[in-house]
Amino acid sequence: MVRLDNLTVSYRQHPALHHVSGQFEPGSLTAVVGPNGSGKSTLLKAAMGLLPPSGGQVRVAVPRDRIAYLPQLAEIDRGFPIQVRDCVLLGCWPRRGAWGGVDAAQLAQADAALLAVGLDGFADRPLGSLSSGQLQRVLFARMLVQDAQLILLDEPFTAMDSKTTAALLALVRQWHAEGRTVVAVLHDDAQVRQHFPQTLLLAREKVAWGPTPQVMAEPFLRQARAMAEAWDETAEVCAIDSLRAAA
Ligand code: ADP
Ligand code: MG
Repeated sequence: MVRLDNLTVSYRQHPALHHVSGQFEPGSLTAVVGPNGSGKSTLLKAAMGLLPPSGGQVRVAVPRDRIAYLPQLAEIDRGFPIQVRDCVLLGCWPRRGAWGGVDAAQLAQADAALLAVGLDGFADRPLGSLSSGQLQRVLFARMLVQDAQLILLDEPFTAMDSKTTAALLALVRQWHAEGRTVVAVLHDDAQVRQHFPQTLLLAREKVAWGPTPQVMAEPFLRQARAMAEAWDETAEVCAIDSLRAAA
């Protein structure tokens, strides 16, 4: 579903992701874990086509409109003046086009999605009036409506209360059961072990990628921590990237 070939992604020539290869299989449910600054968000943005590779390739087997991407909560503009229902309906956008109207079926779908995330009765609320947990539920409702084949979630449960986490985790498991490919950046080791069959452990480079019990083993986790501790404030400039930039 997503294939990384020697992928390097850099910010001003400093690689945040360095020579990573591997693939997210169709229908897989994968946790992406690693220390702060290990390139997890960068990986999702590269898969979404939001950041260009500075080396190697990322290839995605489905068109862009079949990918759902949930950024980290901190990156979401909550001040955008929009009501909950309209935000959910944005998930229909790939099918109805920029100028197409919303039909009754799509309205019903949006209401059903709000019900599914526990936000029945919230349709007319302005987005800015919601708590973090409620906003995250709205964004999950939007993904329900979008019917994506590939779902990329960046720290979907960070700062969520346990009830919200359980409700959203149930949706992730539903998507997995439906055969969709799900990739989620996570911080809670217990959650990863319990619910995510596959794990990619990153420390700018790939430390380990495979079945969760093998990847979340102490030697790999220790290696990732040691690599993170060795990072300077600014990462080394990648020699290959600077040659490329100079060319
Ligand atoms: P993670 O999600 O694993 O915490 P990120 O992918 O966000 O890590 O960041 C990886 C590295 O890239 C970090 O060192 C971070 O400071 C750097 N970085 C991320 N975004 C930018 C940016 N827009 N400009 C410059 N450096 C960035
Ligand atoms: Mg991140």
